[in-house]
Amino acid sequence: MQAQLAQAQKMEALGQLAGGIAHDFNNVLQAIAGALRLIARRPEDPGRVRHLAGMASEATERGASITRRLLAFARRGELRAEPVNVAATLGNLREVLAHTLGAGVEVRAVVAGELPPVMADRGQLEAVLVNLATNARDAMPDGGTLTLSAALEEVSDGQAHGAGLTPGAYLRLVVEDTGSGMDAKTLEHATEPFFTTKPLGRGTGLGLSMAKGFAEQSGGGIGIESESGRGTRVSLWFPCFPAEADQGSGSERAAGVPIP
Ligand code: ADP
Repeated sequence: MQAQLAQAQKMEALGQLAGGIAHDFNNVLQAIAGALRLIARRPEDPGRVRHLAGMASEATERGASITRRLLAFARRGELRAEPVNVAATLGNLREVLAHTLGAGVEVRAVVAGELPPVMADRGQLEAVLVNLATNARDAMPDGGTLTLSAALEEVSDGQAHGAGLTPGAYLRLVVEDTGSGMDAKTLEHATEPFFTTKPLGRGTGLGLSMAKGFAEQSGGGIGIESESGRGTRVSLWFPCFPAEADQGSGSERAAGVPIP
């Protein structure tokens, strides 16, 4: 009975998730269809066509982000770990996010010193970071600063902000914003699957739970510090391995240098 109840709750949650995604996707398609209709009606005005094409293009980016979330969710459990150069990943991400998050959000990427690669599923890592950045953007409707950073951290007592890590060397990835922050109740439940404070169709409640599951499956953990009205810092720890596995660029970075 207990198991059936749990299963029924899971089905309901999945139904809500599917409904939310269908709703998000419908909005995206409507935005694109609307822009195309308006272009077809008056194609001879280049300024107007450029503006509408820009709107359609933004909508496709939103659509791509929905599919990324869905793929990341569907691919849970079949992770392929490979050495990932974090400095290069953050640099690329900074560029993409600077174009997609909107003009009011300044995106910075800071890498402290030379970093060894982390062993992780590259696509999943990127999807998780994009999700965290999207959360940060949502928390900064009037603009603000999003900082992506990476540093080596020696965890000795097994505890790093409640992440419950085994003592050892970790690479700590941080996504920090200057947004609205979370109240105590939200912070307490934030990493639970399907927990969301966003309106129906805007949030799936899966971003942080996926980030947690991913970091833990990679042998690390997650920690969240947040203060209402001041901002949020989400840290992901990944176990470190010797540097020879790394093939990418970025090892020349000096301590705390922002990535251009
Ligand atoms: P979703 O973003 O779809 O709601 P998440 O699991 O990513 O799902 O986040 C759960 C909740 O945690 C959000 O609804 C929001 O209330 C809170 N939250 C997450 N990230 C932030 C952030 N950077 N700033 C403020 N609140 C956040």
